[in-house]
Formats: sequence, C-alpha cells, structure tokens
Amino acid sequence: MLIIVHGGAGEIKRVSKRREGLIKACQLGYLVLKNGGSAIDAVEHAVIELEDNPLFNAGTGATLSINGEAELDAAIMLDDLKCGSVACIKGVKNPVSVARKVLEETDHIILAGKEATKFARKFGFKPYNPITRKRKIALERGIKELKMGKAPKYLPKLKRFIDSSRTVSVRDEYGTVGACAIDNHKRLVSGTSTGGMFMHLPGRVGDTPIPGAGTYASKSGAVSCTGHGECIIKLCLAKITCDAMEKLSAQEAVNRSLKIATKYKCRCGLIAIDKSGNVGLGFNTPQMLWAYIKDDKLNHF
Ligand code: ASP
Repeated sequence: MLIIVHGGAGEIKRVSKRREGLIKACQLGYLVLKNGGSAIDAVEHAVIELEDNPLFNAGTGATLSINGEAELDAAIMLDDLKCGSVACIKGVKNPVSVARKVLEETDHIILAGKEATKFARKFGFKPYNPITRKRKIALERGIKELKMGKAPKYLPKLKRFIDSSRTVSVRDEYGTVGACAIDNHKRLVSGTSTGGMFMHLPGRVGDTPIPGAGTYASKSGAVSCTGHGECIIKLCLAKITCDAMEKLSAQEAVNRSLKIATKYKCRCGLIAIDKSGNVGLGFNTPQMLWAYIKDDKLNHF
C-alpha cells in the first residue's frame, strides 16, 4: 500500500504551510487505503484535500487566467486505462470529483468548458467560486507588470494580447496538485488537478486533463506531472514514464523522463508508482513539494 502526492514544482514559497497541507492530504489518502479502500478513493480524497487548500493551485485558490477567471483542469486515470477528465471547468469546488464522474458516468474521457460545468450540475456539484482574494491581487500585480513590459517567461507571446512592448521574465506561479496510489489489490491510479499557468489565455488547456500528458496510469505504473504544461503535452511525459516502467523501476523511469524533459527545456516534476509498488519522484525545477506514505512510513520533502 502506497500513496504519493505532489503540490507543484517551481520556486515554492510558504514552504512549511504547504508541507503541512501536503502531509495531511497524503495521510488522508493513506487512511483510505489502510481501511481497505480503493486506490481511486485514496487519490480522490488526497486531491480533494489539496484542492480545498487555498495554498495550492487547484480548486479553491487556483491561479487565474489573464481575464481573472479560474479555469480548472483535472483528471483521474485507472490502470485499466479508464479515464475521466475536465478541462477549463468553472464554478465547481472539486474538479477531480467531476473528472471521476466523467469516468464513471459517461462514454467519454474529457468534458470541457461550459458543458463540463453543466454536466457537474446535473450530478449535484453546487455552484462555487474558487477565486480567492490573494489570487486576484496576484493577477492585478501581474497585469500591471505586463503593461510595464514584464511577462512571465513561459508566456512570451502574452504581450500580443495586452498593450505592452518588452518581455522581461518575472515570476512563475506553480502549485498544481497530484496523487498516485496502489491499493492492496495492486490497483494503480493517478489523479491531477490545477488552475493552469498563471495569467494564461482564456480557454487554454494544459497537460493535467490530457491522458498521457500530465496524468497516466497503466498496468506498468501511475504518473502525475507538474510544470510547464505546453512542454509536458509535447513530450507525452506521463505516458513515456509509464511505458518506461514496463522494464524500469519508478525511480529509474522518472530519471529517464527528466533527462528527456531537460533536453527539451521542459521545466517539470513527476511522481510515479510502478507495478511492484516502488516510488519514483523527481524534478528539474528549484523545488517540488512531495510526500508519500509506504507501509505506514511517511517521507516528505
Ligand atoms: N502543469 C500545469 C499546467 O500547465 C501547471 C503546473 O503544474 O504548475 O496547467
């Protein structure tokens, strides 16, 4: 039995509070496993806990798009390749639970935008505003800087959509959350949830809800990624990591994927579990928040 969670990769601030939140989520997920619960329940519980914690970029407190909206992406995937995800969904508290409903209740994999919200309402998800004051202030500051010619370095073309002329790199806002678990029936599950990249264009979909990009599970393992979504999509990072676990351990597979990511200047982090229940984690950013519990023993960054 094992659960591993991440809380994003990048230059992380307010580390101790985030560590606390991450450990709590990990413990909650592990408790589900310990009580005989399934890996999907464990992953969902852990991710919900992180979505509800405003310190992370998912659910409540998600980062905002350039027009001040919280457009949320989330996915959950099982090792039999069943997958559900939502992209650019607004007005829900726990996108990971809506993603699970897509998996369980529809013939589809990804629901997006307004229709995803309508689908959520049909299944009883109440209207909810995940936008926090802190994120609004961050956006106001970001737009001010953008107008002065400073754009986030992962969005060099953003200036075309706003009145500005120079591009100077300022700040990255990470904090996406994810979890992978293996239960005592050896079922592997992965889940990820995010508000996307700070100041992204409206309608942008990142790697998180795309099976094989930010989230993937197969009989070889389970993987959740965080970092620069556009780059992660191009590399199909979660899928190549899972495929590598056919032969390699989770840690070896993560190391291999990070080598590839670094070659393509893809700033990211990954967590993984292989079919034998080994953990893998790594990042090529200054930091990644992670925690896992294996056989009752907690480890964390
Ligand atoms: N991967 C997420 C995205 O691009 C962001 C992150 O992990 O911080 O939407």
